[in-house]
Amino acid sequence: MKRLLVAAIVAALGVPMSAQQADNAKLAAQKADAVKGVDEMAKLAQEMVDSVFSFGELGMQEVETSRYLTAQLEKFGFKITRGQSGIPTAWVATYGSGKPVIALGSDIDGIPQSSQKPGVAYHDPIIEGAPGHGEGHNTGMPLNIIAAIAVKRIMERDKLPGTLMLWPGVAEELVASKAWFVRDGMFKDVDVNLFTHVGANLGTGWGQQGGTGLVSMEFTFEGETAHSAGAPWRGRSALDAVELMSVGWQYRREHLRLSQRSHSVITNGGDQPNVVPRNASIWFYFREIDQPHIKELQEIGIKMAEGAALMTNTKMSYRILGTAYPRHMNKVVAETMYENIKAVGLPTWSEQDQQLAKGLQKELGNPTQNGLAVKLGELGKPVALEDNNGGGSDDIGDISWNMPTITLSYPANIPGLPGHNWSSGIASATPIAHKGVVLSSTLGS
Ligand SMILES: [Zn+2]
Repeated sequence: MKRLLVAAIVAALGVPMSAQQADNAKLAAQKADAVKGVDEMAKLAQEMVDSVFSFGELGMQEVETSRYLTAQLEKFGFKITRGQSGIPTAWVATYGSGKPVIALGSDIDGIPQSSQKPGVAYHDPIIEGAPGHGEGHNTGMPLNIIAAIAVKRIMERDKLPGTLMLWPGVAEELVASKAWFVRDGMFKDVDVNLFTHVGANLGTGWGQQGGTGLVSMEFTFEGETAHSAGAPWRGRSALDAVELMSVGWQYRREHLRLSQRSHSVITNGGDQPNVVPRNASIWFYFREIDQPHIKELQEIGIKMAEGAALMTNTKMSYRILGTAYPRHMNKVVAETMYENIKAVGLPTWSEQDQQLAKGLQKELGNPTQNGLAVKLGELGKPVALEDNNGGGSDDIGDISWNMPTITLSYPANIPGLPGHNWSSGIASATPIAHKGVVLSSTLGS
């Protein structure tokens, strides 16, 4: 997969529209060199994919992951700036100078409870209960790095002007970094942002995307402790407020638009049963398909929290923990990438790769076991709001509204998995992921 990204960067760096034919030949030769360069780094790609998999760190805790990835980039001559936007695990790596500025990003965080031995087609955690790469975010930055190294070599050789910039999607699962990167001007000189995300096929799309945007909010209630048996009438339970808000939301859900998705966890439910809980918190994701409706859900949430506080005579406060705008991708960049996708095609899967994929699909009880993707998907077209039935979010949306951006989805995972689950870790450090990453890197370059 890395090859794909290389092709895209070379094209973006490439020659101006005027000097057409000779330049087309030159561009084709550079693309071929990039592909060759990527293929020669297949071993490095495998090492990086497997190393990042082994860290399996949650959002905002990607300490070893970031240390490792930045060390790799420094080794290959990229300059690193650390602590972007005050986030300890965020960084920016650059090479070159001047225009165009081409940014390559991908997420790096893991999923709770998804520790899994790679290559084993049933639930078999490395460490029971530990986080892991239950989404496959271990493959994206290795892909970008291989692509960037291949392009950097060609830029040096051919004295091409331009800047390569690599950045990690920190805490994507918490949608807690990209909007802040934008706010702090991290992309102010960037001409195009090529984002990569693990998938089960090779693809990209333009225009309004399906799925949702969201706001992530934690509501905290404050009451007063008392002896739960001796003098419960002296206490005011913050946990009661959390439970009432939660129940209230479930009732309200029936009267919300079909496109919404909302879910919560109780992050603090009190201390012990014989002490009336003084503090309790509940954390919601409010998702909708456009910004006005996200805002509307947020306001309903705040009202409901105020109601729960009134009912329980507690005090309520809230904080915003994350935010993601719905996604809107660039047409020209997506169409250009799709041409490269068609030229590169899918990886050649071995019989063992297919066997692992089908075995897992069977283990999960999927009605069909078609194995790995063998046919390219179509170029994604805009999704009309009335046809959007909701779904996941990605804070790449915040970036996509600020500069030409696309997401290259690359096949480093098995189709038909539930997502955010141990099963997504199974292929993520096997030849399936390695092949997917190498092939897609050429697309970037
Ligand atoms: Zn993701």
